[in-house]
Amino acid sequence: MRKPIYGAKAIAVEGSVELSWLKSTPMFQANDDEEFARIRIFRREEPFVFGEDYEEFFFNADASGADLLFEGSIEATNRRKYVFLDRSPALGRTYAYWIQTRNSAPVGPIPVRVRDPEVWWSYREMMRRLEALRDTAPGTVELSVCGQTTRGLDIPCVRIGKGKLAMGLVGAIHGGESGPELIIPALRRLVEESPDLLQTVQVVALPSVNIDSREDEVQGAPWYIRTNPSGVDLNRNFPALWDQVEYGYGFSTDEPGSLTYRGPAPASAPETKAVVSAFSGELPKAVFSYHALASICGPPALAANSAEGSEGYVNRCKYLIDIFGKAFYPEPQFAGKWLGFGCCAGSLPAWLVERGQVPAFDLECGFDTDALRRCRRDETDLSLLKNYQTRHFEGVRALLEALAREED
Ligand SMILES: [Zn+2]
Repeated sequence: MRKPIYGAKAIAVEGSVELSWLKSTPMFQANDDEEFARIRIFRREEPFVFGEDYEEFFFNADASGADLLFEGSIEATNRRKYVFLDRSPALGRTYAYWIQTRNSAPVGPIPVRVRDPEVWWSYREMMRRLEALRDTAPGTVELSVCGQTTRGLDIPCVRIGKGKLAMGLVGAIHGGESGPELIIPALRRLVEESPDLLQTVQVVALPSVNIDSREDEVQGAPWYIRTNPSGVDLNRNFPALWDQVEYGYGFSTDEPGSLTYRGPAPASAPETKAVVSAFSGELPKAVFSYHALASICGPPALAANSAEGSEGYVNRCKYLIDIFGKAFYPEPQFAGKWLGFGCCAGSLPAWLVERGQVPAFDLECGFDTDALRRCRRDETDLSLLKNYQTRHFEGVRALLEALAREED
């Protein structure tokens, strides 16, 4: 059946949903206002599960059982574009919308997930917080740009402290995972609470690397997004063992369209280039890359498979992760084997090993089974996030203190 509309989309904006669409080209050319004189909008909440369901969940869904949310006329912009704002969705829910003009069947489903903007920070919110941090301590905090994303957004790089470069923090290599919400509050607390420590050591942080895909999640893509907009898994795109094909999660890294596609060439993605450039000078003593899901992560920390046989490197990693883990999870029930291996060819940790034997870790989630279950399903709420912000700060501070003692 031919459709009277095209370009239908739904985006989440600060807890509301903005639905927009345009007249189809034939309808626009015919200047057909009659068909658009009455618009109906239907909405249905969907039992969609983040991390388990994907775009296919919505294929072939009709509007049966959907609620009639609006019926009436809407003024078109430029004689063609329509916008409807739904202010009544609930946070943490997934919805499908349908749009119906006078004589046609409802067009949809148009899916959207409404995430808590305090748990998933937008690019704008991240930049606002980084600029505020710089402005509170301009002598201690240096904010710069280390590259651009696929869509051309600036990737921010922040340095705090004046001493030796001790730690590197790299957030959101995978769009649907963690980074800015843990990194920026930790930096802020270090600046406010540990000024002496920052005389001895320095931290460099890229709070969000795959900004485009993270923004897609913020704006309501219901499903987990891993790659950049070109379909490249950035954690397989680094120039280290890149030729080696990996088959983790049942995917193949040499296959375009695969969730773990390594890209057409080493460091082909602009986001990868940005990380490489941020670590082109002095190397940190430890680097954390933020994974798990829905804005939180923690131990276990995974190191590069390629370094598993190197005893000195493994012992150093164990030493560092024990310090971080004990401060992160002081409760005995979370104690465990905090160091694992699993970072494969083309990953950031594998590249940092090649670059200079830098102890580098992908932070996942595991010992706190309740947190793991919740973040996997995108059910991280503000109280869980705050809990992990505190844990994360304590872990980073303890490790920085240990690294500062090595400088004395
Ligand atoms: Zn990841």
